[in-house]
Amino acid sequence: MPTRKGQDISNKLKAEALRLGFSACGLAKAAPVDFSHYDTYSKWIKTGKHADMGYLEKYEEMRMDPRKLHPGSRTVISLALNYYPEKRLNNDQYQFALYVYGKDYHDVMKQKIRELWSSFCDQLDNTDSSIDVDRIRESCKICVDTAPILERYWAWKSGIGWIGRNKTLIIPHKGSFFFLGEILTELEFDEYDVPMEPHCGTCHKCIDACPMHALGDSIDARLCLSYLTIEHKGEFDEKQSSIDSINKKNNISIYGCDCCQLACPHNRAALPTKVEEFKPSEQFLSMRPDDWNRLTKEEYQQLFRGSAVKRAKYEGLMRNISHLGNHK
Ligand code: SF4
Ligand code: SF4
Repeated sequence: MPTRKGQDISNKLKAEALRLGFSACGLAKAAPVDFSHYDTYSKWIKTGKHADMGYLEKYEEMRMDPRKLHPGSRTVISLALNYYPEKRLNNDQYQFALYVYGKDYHDVMKQKIRELWSSFCDQLDNTDSSIDVDRIRESCKICVDTAPILERYWAWKSGIGWIGRNKTLIIPHKGSFFFLGEILTELEFDEYDVPMEPHCGTCHKCIDACPMHALGDSIDARLCLSYLTIEHKGEFDEKQSSIDSINKKNNISIYGCDCCQLACPHNRAALPTKVEEFKPSEQFLSMRPDDWNRLTKEEYQQLFRGSAVKRAKYEGLMRNISHLGNHK
């Protein structure tokens, strides 16, 4: 069995992750998801709160056990990368969720995780030759958002934070503005982390701050602006159109929503990201409402080259602007 007991490889991996700019790294044994989390997820799907994100209903077996997603896995490594921007859009501009200010995190995070795994495996090479390090290096699976794996659950299980009432992963003294990613590997580590107790206490600021009343015991994606402005295809129906008045009054966002994160006291500790790729361009920061209202497809392509905003497509963004822009 590939293992490194006594080699302190857990700490080596974590030190390397911090050196490469990750904000947190934790380790959990690959195993089926705890029943209570499985049950909560199943009920969320059964009650239709995932809206029309049908992909969340698929691959249940894999989602509930990473060893089905990547056979042979013994460890789930969770990683967090800060995206909190130093420069924000001014209040009189149309707002975007902070996570799309820079380049698409799928590409950036995957590349950084590959780099981490490679340099960590180089260290294994130097310390021990009793197992096939090349195989360990090649056989891992890297996940960033698109694989059927419960990312926040594994981040919690890996001891890097807790899942707050706003359903984000909150890292103590750092907040929640982080991308999450995982490495599934057959390598067994010398030490694993312990899940963290939640520190929300009696706070409910995120629930109060949600303009759509989408937060409760769970999140109702059918009401959530993040879903409606990014994942929802086509026009908004009558009920969803209530977001027009809510958003125009509050200038919340024309792409995604951060209200329940910005309200969280733990995010007062958020520090600006040092990842260059996540920094917004001057062009993006200088866009005025009139520029957005008149945005052509060509300008959209140029402005959002390599950006996660492309998920909503030009038509989706213009639909959002026509409904949610408050400076027509
Ligand atoms: S992202 Fe916005 S709309 Fe969705 S739950 Fe949070 S505050 Fe509510
Ligand atoms: S706002 Fe309060 S309840 Fe909500 S996630 Fe933050 S600490 Fe928890």
